[in-house]
Amino acid sequence: MAARIDADLFSRAKAADAADPLGGYRAAFDLPVDTIYLDGNSLGPLTHAARDGVSATVDTEWGRGLVGSWNTADWIGLAYRVGAMIAPLIGAAPEDVICCDSTSVNLYKVLGAALAKRPGRHRIVAERDNFPTDLYIADQAARRAGPAHHVQWLAPGQMIEAALDEDVAVLMLTHVDYRTGAMHDMAGLTRAAHAAGALVVWDLAHSAGAIDLDVAGCNVDFAIGCGYKYLNGGPGAPAFIYAAPVHQADIEQPLTGWFAHAAPFDFSPGFESRAGIGAFLTGTPGILGMRCLEAALSIWRDVELSDIRDKSLALGALFVEAVATSDAAPMLALASPREPSRRGSQVSFHHPAAHGVMQALIADGVIGDMRAPDILRFGFAPLYTRYIDVVRAADRLAAIVVDGRFESAAAADGGAVT
Ligand SMILES: *Cc1c(COP(=O)(O)O)cnc(C)c1O
Repeated sequence: MAARIDADLFSRAKAADAADPLGGYRAAFDLPVDTIYLDGNSLGPLTHAARDGVSATVDTEWGRGLVGSWNTADWIGLAYRVGAMIAPLIGAAPEDVICCDSTSVNLYKVLGAALAKRPGRHRIVAERDNFPTDLYIADQAARRAGPAHHVQWLAPGQMIEAALDEDVAVLMLTHVDYRTGAMHDMAGLTRAAHAAGALVVWDLAHSAGAIDLDVAGCNVDFAIGCGYKYLNGGPGAPAFIYAAPVHQADIEQPLTGWFAHAAPFDFSPGFESRAGIGAFLTGTPGILGMRCLEAALSIWRDVELSDIRDKSLALGALFVEAVATSDAAPMLALASPREPSRRGSQVSFHHPAAHGVMQALIADGVIGDMRAPDILRFGFAPLYTRYIDVVRAADRLAAIVVDGRFESAAAADGGAVT
């Protein structure tokens, strides 16, 4: 059989792994053997810390401590505590981030708060090819803000800055595109929104834990993000909200529940908001999920975000090079920006039989995913993905594509979740 991948790439990968400053973190994860996992951008894998954290929460805090654990295990402070752990990963101060609810729900709350801070302006500017939940939520937020409010949907490639005028209340953007991994210029677009008098809401679902973010340095107004992707918080893990300190006075968010009340245990009939970031809370959090995320975040304590970005860029570049120099190169068109600095931590390729190719690849022990109609997605999580994984994945991908092994696999039903 012809060599699919240059042998030199395997030796370069081994050398890069041996010199990797993050190499030791892989041992924190409980990954199945013989599996190359390149789907941490959809669901981060299990850490030993998460398993231990959930198990201790169930056995000791819930099992023995019962209701007293709200105080003795500080469940009541968990949303703040986990927010503070996420803060350094996005370049925020600990008191400016809170962990709660889902990304979708948090987006609704943050859009409501942002719109309330720009009375007299009626438009949310957003991109049509954003992740659908962001589209649906933005639509509802605009509808419920008033009859003149609406979302202006930008077509792919349409210039964002050109849409910003004196009627724009909020520019809502997802930092890294879920299909292509293309990354926006957070500093530049935030500046452009502010120049037009608008606020900016960033969705960091595909950025937190994968990119060296600096929301405070970029003067971001609000941000939300996901706990179960690169933060490895477990399936359906709670999400987070960032609000710039300047916006934390007089937050008016649309889903005030008793956890956002200044004194929830006064059980007062009138709502009076908590001060600070806690104003974004709604109701009782799922403690098991949040403790799972908290434990998973504990492994990040000493991680340098610059190491994360450096390795993420190197993994992506190696994957692109391995595919581009393989026999399969003519059959796989890069769907991500070619310039590594314009990508998040993901590389995507177009292939007309993407579903079948991914099914065959999964059968070969490489887990990525696909997005209809023709995108193969590969996410690189620097804490556990090795350089050798990336070259092996490219090798198996090339073999499947060149041998045409995907036709039969296309018939196999992968299930409702792609
Ligand atoms: C993953 C993702 C979400 C997830 O939202 P949920 O409320 O957790 O289902 C939202 N927005 C974007 C851009 C995402 O990539």
